[in-house]
Amino acid sequence: MDLQSILLPGVDAKRPLIIAGPCSAETEEQVMETARKLAERGVKIFRAGIWKPRTKPGGFEGLGAEALPWLKRVKTELGMYTAVEVATAKHVRECLAHDVDILWIGARTSANPFAVQEIADALEGIDIPVLIKNPVNPDLDLWIGAIERIYNAGIRRIGAIHRGFSTADKKIYRNLPQWHIPIELHRQLPNLPIICDPSHIGGKRELIAPLCQQAMDLNFDGLIVESHCNPDKAWSDAAQQVTPEILDFILNTLVIRDMTQSTESLSALRRQIDELDNSLLELLARRMRVSVEIGVYKKEHNMPILQAQRYDEIISKRITQAEQMGMDGEFMKTVLVAIHEESVRHQMDIMK
Ligand code: PEP
Ligand code: MN
Repeated sequence: MDLQSILLPGVDAKRPLIIAGPCSAETEEQVMETARKLAERGVKIFRAGIWKPRTKPGGFEGLGAEALPWLKRVKTELGMYTAVEVATAKHVRECLAHDVDILWIGARTSANPFAVQEIADALEGIDIPVLIKNPVNPDLDLWIGAIERIYNAGIRRIGAIHRGFSTADKKIYRNLPQWHIPIELHRQLPNLPIICDPSHIGGKRELIAPLCQQAMDLNFDGLIVESHCNPDKAWSDAAQQVTPEILDFILNTLVIRDMTQSTESLSALRRQIDELDNSLLELLARRMRVSVEIGVYKKEHNMPILQAQRYDEIISKRITQAEQMGMDGEFMKTVLVAIHEESVRHQMDIMK
């Protein structure tokens, strides 16, 4: 992909690029006060939801075009750029009519190729930066597909936003980060800037700072953070919004590591990883050998290979252990199921 920079004139080129503002535009006062406090702290790009895709009807669905003139005030009075989520061709037209500077496509929309195509068609012939959030489901191809649709419409200033992936069991995160997915996106599209949205990944204030740091350590290009002048009173996503003051504090405490200078310690760490991988392989091979012995035993005693109760026990016990050790339960389940499948394959060989 032949992409151009998403940086707008006057926006600092150094990492991280910052976009901040409330989940939703609620009142003219809330928009202006939040934007003013952010501008005073050096934030150049103001986000605000105008049309809110809500999981259930009855939630606050945004004020619609009525709020767009307030964003125009943010531009003219505070000199900030504005960024708005669009989900339909009509949203695109209304944003363009109000001089919105950056558009983004939300996670529910990027999961739907019809909706993305409709937006792409509305963007044909227009030059505006477009940020594309990952789809709600962890499907990298669907994310890349959405990016390609926008690219094919002629848009060249494109960025991706990583906002985590939906799961049924909410534990620590509102949306699981599954960092390997944006990392793989970067491997496939190295010129595409990736911005992290810690607000929608974390779902709670306490997680904003550690997620911002993690994103920086993984070399993300920017951060889009929900910030509200009175977060507790926010009409949407109250638990995850922070005041402009707190955001400023979080950003000031971030450690931005220079990826090129730390090659010495990086190669030491990589050596550790190599050693650990070797140990993992040895352990796995040992486990397979024991499992083969069990296979022999089962054959001699005419027992079936699969013993469901034992299997369930292993899986649930190990998942709990893994979680106590700070690993994700779903991840551990994937690993265990794969190991078990390979054990069963070995035991079937013996039965033959
Ligand atoms: C948002 O940015 O306010 C939003 C609705 O996010 P997402 O599309 O990631 O859920
Ligand atoms: Mn939100």
